[in-house]
Amino acid sequence: MNVLVTGGLGFIGSHTSVELLNKGYEITIVDNLVNSNIKVLKNIQKITGIKPEFKEIDLRDKKELTKLFECNNFDGIIHFAALKSVNESIKKPKLYKENNIGGTKNLLEVITSKKHRTNLIFSSSCTVYGQSKKLPIDENCPTNNIESPYGETKIKCEEIILEAVKKYSNLNAISLRYFNPIGAHESSLIGELPNGIPENLIPYITQTAIGIRNELTIFGNDYPTRDGTCIRDYIHINDLALAHISSLNFLSKVKNKKIYDFFNVGTGKGITVLELINMFEQTNSLKINYKIGNKRKGDITSAYADISKIKTKIGWFSKKSISDALKTAWEWQKRISNYEN
Ligand code: NAD
Ligand code: UDP
Repeated sequence: MNVLVTGGLGFIGSHTSVELLNKGYEITIVDNLVNSNIKVLKNIQKITGIKPEFKEIDLRDKKELTKLFECNNFDGIIHFAALKSVNESIKKPKLYKENNIGGTKNLLEVITSKKHRTNLIFSSSCTVYGQSKKLPIDENCPTNNIESPYGETKIKCEEIILEAVKKYSNLNAISLRYFNPIGAHESSLIGELPNGIPENLIPYITQTAIGIRNELTIFGNDYPTRDGTCIRDYIHINDLALAHISSLNFLSKVKNKKIYDFFNVGTGKGITVLELINMFEQTNSLKINYKIGNKRKGDITSAYADISKIKTKIGWFSKKSISDALKTAWEWQKRISNYEN
């Protein structure tokens, strides 16, 4: 199977590219490097022994995208390329709309301008549920409570993908609504590369542990949860990568049928911020300097997935432990702090 990976040099895209190459898929990576580094390509090659085809293309550049599709027939496309900062999206909603929705529209237009049958996997997010009244969150929970322009781009992309699947005979698609991906590849050659001060908890923890940050601030400890801190469903990056391959395989077995569907991808277990910090300390035998601070605006109290739909229909479920994810995240932090990555 010939697979296009958009945003394939990013955090989730690079791990998925490695798993695709390890399983014998031929891949082409497209990335504009806005939030990634070309060195990731070399490290994907180091891990797999294969140098994937790479094109530095911005998905907003329809001309370049058309050229790529003129020379290639992609059986599968995994579409990661997007801007992902909730905070930045509040400051720059237009940029997020143009990049995330505009890029997806261009991609759909070039796919559907061809006859070749393509299966598309789209990176959506649990952010589409906002604060769900129902926990665990299943795919029937409402998506009309989105808190950020970033989240709005995700639900809009899901909608335009559904419309394209209905309209064009050569496209089937799945949206995967990820919960909180964490960890790094066991080789420590690829991992998460946050730009500037991290917004996410795990890179903030690892940067505090290594001394880049003085202390971690826990955003609030008076939430109505078991220890007062927020609950999330943290999923090992390797398990998440494999969810994409299972989804592609699921679509490739579908014959003479139109399919668009959406699935949660998490572990099904909710962990508090304090529990995660304790687990990080125990797993890696170190102490994190932290304080309790104010609540972060827009944070939701609790989000964890009901994963029965993906388990039943696609057969995917998470296998790796959170403590393994915390170990690999720490190994990765040590490596990027000590060596040229
Ligand atoms: P990332 O920023 O590490 O990777 C995204 C990649 O896309 C980057 O390499 C970036 O350079 C590239 N890119 C962005 N805009 C592009 C464009 N217009 N043209 C070409 N390339 C472009 O992010 P990630 O964490 O790997 O996330 C991948 C996808 O998963 C994103 O769509 C994100 O919204 C979604 N997602 C991420 C999380 C998370 O916590 N990491 C959670 C839910 C959903
Ligand atoms: N969090 C925190 N301090 C930080 C970063 C995050 O206490 O420096 C908390 C945050 O309030 C949330 C959890 O950690 O409850 C996960 O935050 P992250 O930004 O990683 O994911 P998201 O909130 O987008 O699910």
